[in-house]
Amino acid sequence: MALIYKEENNIATITFDQPDSRANVLGTAILLELDKILDQLNNPSSLKAIVIQSAKKDIFIAGADIKEIESITDAAEGKTKSQAGQRILNKLEDLPVPTIAVIDGAALGGGCELALACRYRIATFNDKVRIGLPEVNLGFVPGFGGTWRLPRLVGLQGALKLILSGAPVDGRAALKMGLIDRLYSRVGLADRVAEFVNEINASGKRRRYPVVRPKGFNAFLENTAIGRNFIFSKSKESVLKASRGFYPAPLSALDVVSRTRGLSRRAAMDIESSAFAELAVTPVSKNLVSLYYLTEKFKKLSVPGAEGVKPAAVSKAGVIGAGIMGGGIAQLLSNRGVRVRLKDINHDAIAKGLKAAYDVYKQAIKRRRMKPADVAVGMAMISGTLDHSGFSDADIVIEAVVENMDIKKKVFEEVARHVPDRTILASNTSSLSLTEMGRGVKDPSRIIGFHFFNPVHRMPLIEIITTGQTSQATIAGTLEFAKRLGKTPILVKDAPGFLVNRILLAYINEAGHLLQEGGDIERLDKVVTDFGMPMGPFLLSDEVGLDVGVKVLHILEAGLGPRFKSSKIFDEVFALKLLGKKSGRGFYIHGPRRRVNPAVQALIKASSAVSDKEALERMLYIMINEAARILEEGVVDGPDTVDIGMIMGTGFPPFRGGLLRYADTLGVERIVDDLNRLEERFKDGRFKPARFLLDMKARNTRFYA
Ligand code: NAD
Repeated sequence: MALIYKEENNIATITFDQPDSRANVLGTAILLELDKILDQLNNPSSLKAIVIQSAKKDIFIAGADIKEIESITDAAEGKTKSQAGQRILNKLEDLPVPTIAVIDGAALGGGCELALACRYRIATFNDKVRIGLPEVNLGFVPGFGGTWRLPRLVGLQGALKLILSGAPVDGRAALKMGLIDRLYSRVGLADRVAEFVNEINASGKRRRYPVVRPKGFNAFLENTAIGRNFIFSKSKESVLKASRGFYPAPLSALDVVSRTRGLSRRAAMDIESSAFAELAVTPVSKNLVSLYYLTEKFKKLSVPGAEGVKPAAVSKAGVIGAGIMGGGIAQLLSNRGVRVRLKDINHDAIAKGLKAAYDVYKQAIKRRRMKPADVAVGMAMISGTLDHSGFSDADIVIEAVVENMDIKKKVFEEVARHVPDRTILASNTSSLSLTEMGRGVKDPSRIIGFHFFNPVHRMPLIEIITTGQTSQATIAGTLEFAKRLGKTPILVKDAPGFLVNRILLAYINEAGHLLQEGGDIERLDKVVTDFGMPMGPFLLSDEVGLDVGVKVLHILEAGLGPRFKSSKIFDEVFALKLLGKKSGRGFYIHGPRRRVNPAVQALIKASSAVSDKEALERMLYIMINEAARILEEGVVDGPDTVDIGMIMGTGFPPFRGGLLRYADTLGVERIVDDLNRLEERFKDGRFKPARFLLDMKARNTRFYA
């Protein structure tokens, strides 16, 4: 049994405590248990209140059971499931006795909807309190009455904000918007709840389900047809902008809220359950759900064979190189309570690094994510240095100097003499061999790659690169540290370009070949953004910098062969010193109004531009083929590492489920046949199908079983 029912002093408590689980989730079985309890309530009118709470630490109810939703294959089944939940929560709402949800942690999705069906909601000051409806992030809409109850409780604008963004609010914000009735300290919580019960009983008003009455201008906005139309059209505009039309759920949620306004509960619930059911069976939703599982898996990643290793905690770090990356890394670490010694070759460079860190903090103040006092504490954790003073007690050193093997080797050789034997020596290199980098160090088992993406504070992925010599303790320590920094780590073996840059550069270079054949910069970029990528290959090249891109291509060519030879157009643009955003000009002229650089387009001696369809296929195939080689070489352990890496490291469209999940929808036969045809045409080896793909075709298998 997952629910415990108790009655004491005319107050009933229902405690959610799902066996063998860290969290409560709202699946069919638990809902039926609740249904039974509600049916068996003996003379509910004699009760002063029913309190619904959780026995789990930091969790009220984490959501609906996603496994159950994932298994829904037809819309009729989805509708039945949604209606079953609605019916039970309606029963909860209709009880003739005050019901109170006590939220001391996450109340998300179905958990939030259950709390919404109670007449009152109380939360605690626990930092882990998060209340919200994240369903749109999984590609569907709330299906247990949330779209109908939330607007009634907090008004249209507040409800739309929560439902359309999927982002939860903390206890304070919930109180402010009227989502909860009280916010209490956790100490003496039971007494506070008992007092609250007395308070509502003394007031004599066992009120019905509350319906918000907006005041002032909000009353005009929410209570008039003109006002509501304004709210709905503004919301639609921002949904379309954010989802670029790729994600149907937020639009559908908006439609449900607007159509159900003013309808009876029964009619509203019917519309909601239909929308839920239709969306839950779409490929977009299935992809987003599998991505959710993938993210959860990687958040908990452990080192195979090193489960027993207990990594030492990192409290102090040395960061060498105070450039774009070093400054960003110092900021991230300091924000997580790690003291940082930031080393560079001159004071100006250090000042730049400190400024880069401060700029990130400043943005956090501007967005009201941090208070100035906390930023001051963060900045005080970073100190600059020109030598190795302050490195003698560093738990980890992260080098982020220029991408040059000789310099990096020297940096490691030197720093190894100034830190204890236990210190992890990590490199933020984008492409260079870690094995080679560790050659001058006495104990190369401490060497590891710790590859952040730019901008460090925003990009969620970190590649952890191991050599044949990296020790289990080094890997375990680095992995723990990555998690503490709030990043999603993937484990990658030392090989040129590792995972993400290797696949990304293959694709960007192919875009270069396409352009050279007579393509159009803007059009090729659009082909890719129309597929769902956040930006096209040429804008991305400008963002990264042509100098960096061409250099990495050369490193990849040296390590992986001529298929990475940079396309002529990249060499030409680089030779003209058009470095991209950093120099104001690259493929585009950057400024308040970005436009294509005619000087670059003029270099293209248009012959026969390929169709958009072929352009997209070539760019995708080259990535899939490279990913297959990566799997063949054992650089990563499986397709899910490729997919999470590409989604989190490059913004590969999440609704497509990942590069290799997408490849599976094309089918290996088609991919291999097309690659063969392209190889036949170009005869330069870049489309030669990987053996891994040929094997898959022969065995008629997929990347994902
Ligand atoms: P950058 O040019 O902005 O900064 C490099 C810094 O290193 C400069 O301040 C320079 O003065 C300093 N430096 C050079 N030699 C040094 C030495 N011997 N000791 C101490 N400091 C030294 O470079 P960046 O873009 O921050 O890149 C740094 C590293 O991070 C490179 O390996 C790069 O490949 C990698 N990286 C960069 C990005 C990116 O987008 N910029 C992303 C991921 C990884």
